[in-house]
Amino acid sequence: MSNEKDDGVCENKLCIDLDIKCDIGNGLAQGIDSINVNNNNSTISVSACANCGKGEEESHKLKSCTACKLVKYCSRDCQIAHRPQHKKECRRRAAELYDEKLFKQPPPKDDCPICFIRLPSLDSTGWRYMTCCGKVICSGCCYAPVYDNKGNEVYEMKCAFCRTSYPTSDEEAVERLNKRMEINDAIAIHDVGSYYRDGRNGLPQDHAKACELWHQAVELGFTEGYTNIGFAHNNGEGVEVDKKKAMHYWELAAIGGDVYSRHNLGKTI
Ligand SMILES: [Zn+2]
Ligand SMILES: [Zn+2]
Ligand SMILES: [Zn+2]
Ligand SMILES: [Zn+2]
Repeated sequence: MSNEKDDGVCENKLCIDLDIKCDIGNGLAQGIDSINVNNNNSTISVSACANCGKGEEESHKLKSCTACKLVKYCSRDCQIAHRPQHKKECRRRAAELYDEKLFKQPPPKDDCPICFIRLPSLDSTGWRYMTCCGKVICSGCCYAPVYDNKGNEVYEMKCAFCRTSYPTSDEEAVERLNKRMEINDAIAIHDVGSYYRDGRNGLPQDHAKACELWHQAVELGFTEGYTNIGFAHNNGEGVEVDKKKAMHYWELAAIGGDVYSRHNLGKTI
């Protein structure tokens, strides 16, 4: 819906008052947000409340509509008053913005700290998390043979990064993860959450605890954790069954680049 007349002049009150042509373009909004005005060859930026037309200079705290970012308001009252007019356009643009986030190329994985080749996207097959130093190492480096001075292959079962021996028992692995958790290592927190879900490595099955730990992990930046939170809601493990929430969390994981969640969404939609 365009609010420009045929001659390209915006019909909005402020634009008419100022006798300017605004570049809202393509009917992005009813009401105006930030308008570039070319005045005597100098470009200035004018912002105004979409409801009452009050400018930035009269009300220095115009706030954008957080959902669509298309319009600004001088007050909550103006936002509420403008809502019936704005609702449809706001929802359309918010959905567009969300889709842009969901379908854009996800952020790349980190590089392996040993060979500096980018880590593969599929977890548990192409990389391994080290409970000793918290490094994520590509499988190629984990399985690369090590030789002694005489050229004999040595099976040393050590971390390829810090040379600490692999844990010899589940308990030792959990002990190391607990230490990593103390320094807010997101992957360690996530993995211990998964042990609680399955009741393995000496930990009791506790779905609520698992969910709590996954939430902590995603807050610390391990967005893959949203996948398991999605499954918890989908299956009602530790939380109520809620398919909508499951989709929501899978979408968050997909935005973070998680391939399994992208797959789940593809199957579900
Ligand atoms: Zn206003
Ligand atoms: Zn809006
Ligand atoms: Zn590597
Ligand atoms: Zn290590």
